[in-house]
Parts: sequence; C-alpha cells; structure tokens
Amino acid sequence: MKKYLLTPGPTELPARVLLAMAHPIIHHRAPEFLPVLEQAREGLKWLFKTKNEVLILASSGTGAMEGAVTNFLSKGDKVITVNAGKFGERWGQICKAYGVEADVINVEWGQSVDPEKIKEALQKNPDVKGVYFQATETSTGVVHPVKEIAKIVHDNSNAIVVVDGITGVGVFDLPMDEWGIDILLTGSQKALMLPPGLAFIGISDRAWKLNETSTLPRFYFNFSKELKNIVKNQTAYTPAISLIIGLGESLKMMKEEGLENVYKRHTLLAEATRKGVQAMGLKLYAPKSPSNSLTAAVAPEGLDSGKIISSLEKDFGIRIANGQDQAKGKIFRVAHMGYYDKSDILFMLASLEIVLNKLGYKVESGIGVGAAEKVFIA
Ligand SMILES: *Cc1c(COP(=O)(O)O)cnc(C)c1O
Repeated sequence: MKKYLLTPGPTELPARVLLAMAHPIIHHRAPEFLPVLEQAREGLKWLFKTKNEVLILASSGTGAMEGAVTNFLSKGDKVITVNAGKFGERWGQICKAYGVEADVINVEWGQSVDPEKIKEALQKNPDVKGVYFQATETSTGVVHPVKEIAKIVHDNSNAIVVVDGITGVGVFDLPMDEWGIDILLTGSQKALMLPPGLAFIGISDRAWKLNETSTLPRFYFNFSKELKNIVKNQTAYTPAISLIIGLGESLKMMKEEGLENVYKRHTLLAEATRKGVQAMGLKLYAPKSPSNSLTAAVAPEGLDSGKIISSLEKDFGIRIANGQDQAKGKIFRVAHMGYYDKSDILFMLASLEIVLNKLGYKVESGIGVGAAEKVFIA
C-alpha cells in the first residue's frame, strides 16, 4: 500500500532531497565540504532573515532547546516560560534540569498566550533573563503572537526573546532581526523537508552578550565553539554530512518557490484543511488562533480519535497524529508543513470522510472536500 505521512514531524520528503542525500559521503574537513556548508549557512540566514550566523547542530530539535537554556543562563537565573502544551512544558523541564527558576505562564490547551500575561510577569520579575515560548505549540495546533510578545519583552525588560520555531520556521514569517527575536530555533524534520537529525539556531547580538557571562554546564552544545567553526564553514564535531547536503537542496527548493510563496502555500493548505474538517461538523481544537503548520481537530462525541487515526492508516496508508496527554483520544492532528500540496489535502479530506462514515459518524460524501475545493477555486 502506498504510504502518506501527514504527521507534525517527521514529514514527507521530496525526491530531490532524497537523491541529494544519496551523494557519496564527503569528508567534513576536506575542501569539497566547505562550499556545501557555506551554501547551507547562507540559506539559513536567508530563511531566518538574520545577518547573524545560524548554527547547525547534529541533534533533534530538543537539543537546540536545551542549548538555548545552557548557553545563555546561569544557575539561579530566572526566566519566564509559556506552557500551552507539551512543548511549552518542555521549556520548564529543561530549566528545572539545570537549576534555572522558571516563572511558568500556564495557558489552557488550545489557546494562545495573551501577551498581557507576559507583560504582567515581566513587571513582577523585572530581572528575568529570558522569555521562552513556541511559535506554534504543536501539541494543540495553536500559534502564539510572536511579534507582539517580542515587542512587549523588549519594551519592559532586558530579557532575551527565545522562540522555539520548530513548527514555525518555513511555514510563516518569523523575521528574526526585524522582530527582535534573540534566539530562533528549528529542527530538520518539520517544515524543512528533511529527515530528523539536524537542529538550527539563530542567535542575536543581545543573546551573544548574555552568552559571555553564562555559566551553566555544557559540552557538546557549546555555541561559542560552534560559532568559531561555522564562520570557517566547519562545525566543532562531525556534522551530519548527508543531512547538510540534503539541506542545501531543500533550501534551493524554497528559494525557487520564493519564501513568500512558501508562506502563501501553507496559508492556503491550512485554510482548506480547516474549512474541510469544519464542513464535516468537526470542531477545531485551537479555533481562535490556529497555526498554518498543522490542524488539530476534535473527534466527534463518543468516537476515540485513535480509531480515526488507525482507520486512515489501514484503509488509506495515511498516517496522522493523535493528541498527547489530556488530548489523547480526543483530537487528531494533520500536518501540512513542508512538502505538501493541494492534492494532499483533497486526498486526506476525502479519506477522512470515508473513514468517519465507516466508524458511524455520518458525513455527506464530498462535503469536506467541497469546502476545500472552494478555498482552492477562490
Ligand atoms: C517537534 C517539536 C519539538 C521537538 O523536537 P524533536 O525534534 O522531537 O526534539 C519541539 N518543539 C516543537 C514546537 C515541536 O513541534
């Protein structure tokens, strides 16, 4: 059976990227590797919209998250974190592991954080070193107001703005320098059309200043060491060479499409998906601020979302994701970030209609697909 991956990471890979990665291995200290890394480096600056270097790490996204704590803070420092789901919770867990005191702003699942809450927390703790949050909270499908938060943080404190953009970068605009995002990080397996295994982190001058006085223990994720290397088109340790070759190709594809068109495509696919599931009578889990990277929909009353997910897999070879923790069994999550097109959305919605009907939830054939078609025709 033909397989389709519509999970919020890993995501589908273009044949061009797969073929690029089949290139024989190059030694990373050999002259042939320098232009490969240089091209990836320039491409990442273009994608992050920053004049500063974007470091390339051999790890999943969480490695960059951990490094975003250990390279800028010291034991006993205070930070603010936003916990609106699983990934926001992770910022708090990393801080705890390193003895950093986190003032956690808890947000109801499915809601985005109110920037005023961050302002209040900053006024209560004017000496916080950083504000850590997500661009998209992937566990609930919500998008946080990154631009507004960055402004509030800079207007009210000297804290750095740290954005986990793992499901934001390459989906919607997150111009680092223009918005004053001090740290922006992402992983390879979401919108960047690559397998898992790389993390990327852009760092502002303000954050580099903090790095000079930060004393938390670190070894592998040592960003000042990585910076010294990347300016020479090198990495401190053996890089994931094949993945970096793939990155060169995926960045090339994004450049060919044009960044604004990449964002427009994601907006269109997300809009069609939302309209499609709503036309089937399903509710969005994050109705007020849904992200364009994935759609989280609430399963019909009395129907375990796990059944929808396993039926889609069994009958159509489509893999989507369940909810996590409190949302498990209640919602399903369909990703449309990275290598996806209109045809993927139409196929997924049609399959979902069939599966829902088979599971006893009556949906008029074509009603979801029709709603998506209208978005594409308009
Ligand atoms: C996927 C994801 C992560 C975790 O990334 P790993 O690559 O699994 O370490 C972190 N934050 C967000 C918002 C994500 O979507």
